[in-house]
Amino acid sequence: MQTLAPFAADETTSHGRVYDEPKPSYRSEYQRDRDRIIHSAAFRRLEYKTQVFVNHEGDMFRTRLTHSIEVAQIGRSIARVLNINEDLIEAIALAHDLGHTPFGHAGQDVLNDCMRDHGGFEHNMQSLRVVDELEEKYADFPGLNLTFETREGILKHCSVKNAQQLGELGERFLNKQHPSLEAQTANLADQIAYNNHDVDDGLRAGLLTIEQLREVTLFREQYDYVVATYPGLQRRRAIHETIRRMINRQVVDLLETSLELIEDHNPRHIEDVRQVGVDLITFSEPMQKLNLEMKQFLRENLYRNYRVNRMSAKAERIIRALFVAFFTDVTLLPPEQANNVRWLEKESGEAGRARAVADYIAGMTDRFAILEYERIYNPTQLT
Ligand code: MG
Repeated sequence: MQTLAPFAADETTSHGRVYDEPKPSYRSEYQRDRDRIIHSAAFRRLEYKTQVFVNHEGDMFRTRLTHSIEVAQIGRSIARVLNINEDLIEAIALAHDLGHTPFGHAGQDVLNDCMRDHGGFEHNMQSLRVVDELEEKYADFPGLNLTFETREGILKHCSVKNAQQLGELGERFLNKQHPSLEAQTANLADQIAYNNHDVDDGLRAGLLTIEQLREVTLFREQYDYVVATYPGLQRRRAIHETIRRMINRQVVDLLETSLELIEDHNPRHIEDVRQVGVDLITFSEPMQKLNLEMKQFLRENLYRNYRVNRMSAKAERIIRALFVAFFTDVTLLPPEQANNVRWLEKESGEAGRARAVADYIAGMTDRFAILEYERIYNPTQLT
């Protein structure tokens, strides 16, 4: 078994679970967290939720499920080198997108707008809400009752207002502390995964071209090397070879930069990591610039491509229409959701009603949201 570094997250220094439970017999606490996440309903639904492309556009694109698995893979590779907790990183990676609405960011923005007067909607907070409250699985507690460290990793960012309501979990946002190295690693593994797979999916969808991508340093360096070294290589293989080299370059940069930072700051305990005042897992400055260049390119050319915009516009209409329908007429909801609405409304009035409707909509897959929209607004669609 791998020996953990003294600054790694370890169950002996864990801040524990909200509801006390006996220790697992043959697993670590973080393995148990990961296993609970894999068995959750929200995790299965990631298969039919998208990042950029809508699920029915094709079977070859990333979904939130395959994205989360890629994040876990990258995170675990980094964990092995740094001797930090691989099980915890895996748990955080697999859970990090559980709170996403259907239709990617377009969905989250419009749901946030619908919830403007009722506390807002933020996918990161929603991921926490899924594991803390919405999963109904266990006899002894609501949610999945995950460890503090997994929940700390899920909550990447948080407004001061929200942080004040989260108790111990919110403290770091008020005291300007940093999360575990495992949380920091999962966060950057997420970035590495999506920047690279969005290039791949964008090319596959024909929304991006190689000529365009050669404007971006990270891509150009690797692509030019690949075609010079392997003349005549098939396009598909040249693209994959380029992308795997881009991922490797970023992971190596992150490892080398982070190892140096860890050595400089010499944390002896996970609490040192939280107090040290800087992120110890990070890219070098030149790599941060290169990543920014890639991000800006993707924003302009992919995320704001007119074909993506068309789908986002449809997504907006669907989510808004569903919210209005359910918020104004609870009787349109299936019995279980209607009960949730009444329950939360009794607890916290109109804001509670809105929250229960948002929970229902956020939990939908892309295709289910489209179907619900049809069932409610299309007179010829059977209910
Ligand atoms: Mg992600």
